[in-house]
Amino acid sequence: MATINDNYLKLKAGYLFPEIARRVNAFAQANADAKIIKLGIGDVTEPLPQACVRAMIRATEEMGDRETFKGYGPEQGYAWLREKIAHHDFQARGCEIDPDEIFISDGSKCDTGNILEIFGNNNTIAVTDPVYPVYVDTNVMAGNTGDVKKNGEYEGLVYLPITAANNFTAQIPDEKVDLIYLCFPNNPTGATASKEHLQAWVDYAQANNSIIFFDAAYEAYITDSSIPHSIYEIEGARNCAIEFRSFSKNAGFTGTRCALTVVPKTLTAKADDGSDVELWKLWNRRQSTKFNGVSYIVQRGAEAVYSQEGKEQIQQLISFYLENAKIIREKLTAAGLQVNGGINAPYVWVKTPNELSSWDFFDKLLNTCNVVGTPGSGFGAAGEGYFRISAFNSRKNVEEAMKRITEKFKV
Ligand SMILES: *Cc1c(COP(=O)(O)O)cnc(C)c1O
Repeated sequence: MATINDNYLKLKAGYLFPEIARRVNAFAQANADAKIIKLGIGDVTEPLPQACVRAMIRATEEMGDRETFKGYGPEQGYAWLREKIAHHDFQARGCEIDPDEIFISDGSKCDTGNILEIFGNNNTIAVTDPVYPVYVDTNVMAGNTGDVKKNGEYEGLVYLPITAANNFTAQIPDEKVDLIYLCFPNNPTGATASKEHLQAWVDYAQANNSIIFFDAAYEAYITDSSIPHSIYEIEGARNCAIEFRSFSKNAGFTGTRCALTVVPKTLTAKADDGSDVELWKLWNRRQSTKFNGVSYIVQRGAEAVYSQEGKEQIQQLISFYLENAKIIREKLTAAGLQVNGGINAPYVWVKTPNELSSWDFFDKLLNTCNVVGTPGSGFGAAGEGYFRISAFNSRKNVEEAMKRITEKFKV
């Protein structure tokens, strides 16, 4: 008889986004002419940069021509793309990353989950609270946790609060953990990590032989030059960190799919027999066996991100979303709300007024302003009392939503 992976039964039913949809639908049905504005989504809204579009059209034509047609590409990604990434994203910032250490993939979501395959099942794993839910659920699926507790946390995971009390940086644990997920600029709080904070993490990881999974999906939103874009800007990180990057939030590739993972060749972890094994070798083996690369067309689109034209167009996109975030910050502050993030990130993390719960604030905003955001408690227990507003929307919608909040919302 076939059996299942019972770990899947430990997963909490998808609660956050279905519940948001349920409440929004109920409201829309009762208020047929309300014009609801959704600022809850973590997806981009602007079209692809023209430089990427044109590169993909050219690549499509090459694929339709016998002379330039291409079949399977390298599982790790084409060298011309990996060289550009190594040069522009890493070496130009003083990070010693070799093109060989870069693996092109179809998304950071899959990579942050798949990476667990090359690690053992007895690691102590730390995640932040609030957190990007993928990190938690993939550990549940892999059997790295116990059951879910009443407060929504899983037995066996170490939760590191990101709160106002620690200035929205992940609290370094007192205990020893083996794997640590960090995401900066952070989804959902929009907080960033200073060089000193990341240095403290790298020092911790080196002292404890831990590995940091550094998710830099939002690095393009950093405008403050003192904030590191890559964990490899930190001394010692080549010995303790894997970095995940994506073209989703800088070049709008959420529907096009291209990302990359950096596994330095200097990174090792222990085998059962106590020997040190290079993680690069294991990830290379994993990718070569289970992955057949990203499409040639999409990799040419990603390459165009690094052209002069591409860089300018991406800068325009980022500036557009950051201007949205600035408008959101300013208008909410004027309405008497306390805001965090939204300066080097496309997310504004709002403190709910008058001790309202995240869900009560959600209902209030929906009912009085017909604006939808994301309750902070949906990202973890420490997110209770907060609310995420996303800058991914049209200028018109952002301005209209903020106008309603300024006029109608009474703290
Ligand atoms: C959007 C996002 C990503 C990107 O995921 P892709 O699969 O590359 O689209 C990664 N991490 C976080 C935290 C994100 O919000």
